[in-house]
Amino acid sequence: MISESEFHLDRSSVRLEELIGDGLFGNVYRGSYVDVRLKRHSVAVKVCRVDNDSQDLHTSNKYLLEEAYTMQQFRHPHIIKLLGICSGPSISSSDESESDSGTVSTNNNNNNNIPAFGVWMVMELAPFGEMRQYLQREKSIIDLSVQILFAKQIASAVTYLHSRAFVHRDIAARNVLVTNSRCVKLSDFGMSKLLAEEEVYTSSSGKLPIKWMAPESLNFRKFTTQSDVYSLGVCIWEILMHGIKPWQGIRNHEVIKKIEVGEILQRPSECPLAVYDMLRAMWVIDEYLRITAIETTHFLEHLLEEIDDG
Ligand code: ADP
Repeated sequence: MISESEFHLDRSSVRLEELIGDGLFGNVYRGSYVDVRLKRHSVAVKVCRVDNDSQDLHTSNKYLLEEAYTMQQFRHPHIIKLLGICSGPSISSSDESESDSGTVSTNNNNNNNIPAFGVWMVMELAPFGEMRQYLQREKSIIDLSVQILFAKQIASAVTYLHSRAFVHRDIAARNVLVTNSRCVKLSDFGMSKLLAEEEVYTSSSGKLPIKWMAPESLNFRKFTTQSDVYSLGVCIWEILMHGIKPWQGIRNHEVIKKIEVGEILQRPSECPLAVYDMLRAMWVIDEYLRITAIETTHFLEHLLEEIDDG
């Protein structure tokens, strides 16, 4: 966890450069951040949306802050790192900063519709962007060993979250980012929750990722470490399918009916039987009989060793 003073960054030390994504409560920009030691970091900054009215702005700020407070507790090689947040006005008297080319230019943060108020979440940048697009774009060079490597990395991130009593609740390929050709990181902690003592989180509202949800989440809105495992299985299936979403062309309510009668996603054509067996173990209807995140991670580690040994 980072300290309160480290968590709050001066807005003038952050420079926004290009819009790279949009989310429910905020737009995401690529940019740079200069820390107190004058080291420059490439960052992604989630900024609350400007098209909202003041009520929505308040809600967006609240959600961004909650997500930031969650993320700042995690330190894991396969979880996107939060560097800090900007929440107050800039405390710097100068609005000038040095650009990558070394020239000094006026900070452009205020002249292109980006609100210089509200919460900015400053995160480590994943230069290769979203994993789904990456898997589709680089299909020709991504073989089973890379797919299993990515699966193992995400499983290890989920194991880490569970060891800290967190459930992510939205594990899906769309929430995984690529930092280099051999490293992916879990992101988007907007839905994640610290488990209460009974170790179950019951959700009542909001837009739900039906096609990634475990039967008990669909039926009872029950989210646990084991429902995360079910979603992780769907996410691994998406990796093995080179970024294709589950249940393509099938409506949510029809998917719910399929899950109710025990139907599961089909085996991807190049998926080894042992890996499909693992997916089936992650999709067992009875959550108590489902394998755990740590077991999944160990299985994938062994498999990767076997693949690497040829
Ligand atoms: P939301 O949770 O509101 O959907 P996300 O956190 O998923 O928003 O961000 C929206 C998009 O912004 C992502 O799909 C991705 O394209 C981009 N993005 C978010 N965080 C980063 C990051 N750290 N590095 C690179 N791109 C990012």
